[in-house]
Amino acid sequence: MIDIIIIGAGPGGYRAAEYAAKQGLKVTIIEEGHVGGTCLNVGCIPTKTYVHSATFEDARERMAQVVPQLRGGIESILSHPSITLVRGKASFVDASTIRVGDEHFTAPNIIVATGSTSKMLNIPITSPSSSGGQARGPVVDSTGLLNLETLPKRLCIIGAGVIGMEFASVFNRFGTEVTVIEFLKECLPALDSDIAKRLRKQMEKQGVTFFMGAGVKSIASDAAGSIVHFEQKGKELTVEADIVLVATGRKARTEGLNLESAGITLAPNGTIPVDEHFQFSTLNAQCSNIFAIGDVNGKQMLAHAAEMQGIHVVNRILGREDNIRFDIMPAAIFTEPEAACVGPSEDQLKDAGTPFECHKSFYRANGKALAMNQSEGMVKLCTEPGEGRIISAHIFGAHSADLVQEVTAYITLGATLRQLRDTVHVHPTLSEVLREVN
Ligand code: NAD
Repeated sequence: MIDIIIIGAGPGGYRAAEYAAKQGLKVTIIEEGHVGGTCLNVGCIPTKTYVHSATFEDARERMAQVVPQLRGGIESILSHPSITLVRGKASFVDASTIRVGDEHFTAPNIIVATGSTSKMLNIPITSPSSSGGQARGPVVDSTGLLNLETLPKRLCIIGAGVIGMEFASVFNRFGTEVTVIEFLKECLPALDSDIAKRLRKQMEKQGVTFFMGAGVKSIASDAAGSIVHFEQKGKELTVEADIVLVATGRKARTEGLNLESAGITLAPNGTIPVDEHFQFSTLNAQCSNIFAIGDVNGKQMLAHAAEMQGIHVVNRILGREDNIRFDIMPAAIFTEPEAACVGPSEDQLKDAGTPFECHKSFYRANGKALAMNQSEGMVKLCTEPGEGRIISAHIFGAHSADLVQEVTAYITLGATLRQLRDTVHVHPTLSEVLREVN
C-alpha cells in the first residue's frame, strides 16, 4: 500500500519523499523530466556555477559536471526501499488516484509539487522562427539563456526581479553588454528599497545599463538579433540585442494534471489554492488529502520554502506538530555582491504602522571585508523599539546569503539585539558586521 503519492521530484517533492521514507512511510514519486526540478536542472544550481566561474566557457563546463553529479545524488536518495520513482507524466483520475501512462496509483495522500514555468510577455513578438514555446528565436527565458552555447555580445533583460538581476550580474562580468528594462521605479520589488537601490547603483558602476519605470511594448526579432521597443517617461525608446531574456515572473505548472477530476479549481492567478498547512481547500471533503507545495501553490517561490513545506506536510500526514516558521523566510539574490533578507522590509513595517528601530553597519568598517577587497556592503537590522527583539535583516554585500542565516536563527528564537551583541563572533569574519550595528 502507498501512503503518499508525490507528483514532481524537485526540491519540494524529493525532500518530502526522503523525509517521509525516513519516518517509515511508503512513497511513490512521479517525475516526467530529470529529478531535481527547476532548481537543480535550470535554476539555482546552474546559475550558481555561472556566478562562481571566471568565464562563460568555464561556467558551461562546470554546469555540465555539477548538475549530473547532484542529479545522481538525488537518484540515490530516491532509491530508498520505501520510495518508488515512476518516470512519466502524472494526471489525476479522481481525488485519490493518479494515472501515469497505463498505470494507476492510489494513495490516501497526494502531494502536488510540480513547480512553475516562466511567464512570457503578453506583447507582440515578431520572429521568423516563432514556433511557440518558451524560446522564440533570440527571445528566451532563463532556461533558454542557460542553453546558449556562445556568449552573446549584447543582452537585453526584461524585468529587474531576482532572475533578471542575477543574469545581468553574471553576463556583465563575462563581458556581455547588458541592458535591463524594468516596469517599476526600482529593481527587486520584494527587497528593502534601500538595499535594492544600492545594489542597482553598484551594478551600474560595473557597467550594466538600467531603464527603470519603463514598459516594453514589442520585440522585433530575426535570426540576427532583436530590437526591443519600450516607453519611458512618455518617450519611445529602443534597445538592440543579440539575445533578449524575458524575466518577468513565473507561473504555476499545472497543465495536463487534470486537476478538475479531483475537484480542484485553480485560483485566479493559476496556482493551487491551499491553506496554511498547504492542503487543498478543506471545504471540499473529497479533496482533504491533497496538498500542494512549492511554486505551484504560489506562496513563496523559493526552493528552500518548497522543501520546508514538504516536511511540514509529511508531519501533518503523520499527525505530528512542528515549529516551522513560514513567516520567517530568508531569501538571497546571487548578484555581485549578493543581497539577502529575512522578515519585513523597512517600507513594509512603516506601511503596517509597526513600531520599529533601524540599526545599520557597513562592510567598510569590517577587517575581513577590507582584507577580501569587498568593502562595499551594508547591514540593516530592524528591531522592536528599545533594541528589543530582532524583526528583520536586509543585507547587501559579500556573502550576505550566509550572514542572513544567522539573523534568521535569532528571529526564529525571538532573540533581542542585545543577545546578538552578546554573542561571540569569530574575528576576523564578515559576521562581525552584525555585532557592529549602531
Ligand atoms: P520577479 O517577480 O522576481 O520579478 C519580475 C520583474 O519583472 C518585476 O520587477 C516586474 O516589475 C518586472 N516586469 C514584469 N513585467 C514587465 C514588463 N512588461 N516590462 C518590464 N518589467 C516587467 O520574477 P523573476 O525574476 O522572473 O523570478 C521568478 C521567481 O523565481 C520569483 O518568485 C523569484 O523569487 C524566484 N527565484 C528566486 C531566486 C533566488 O532566490 N535567488 C532565483 C531565481 C528565481
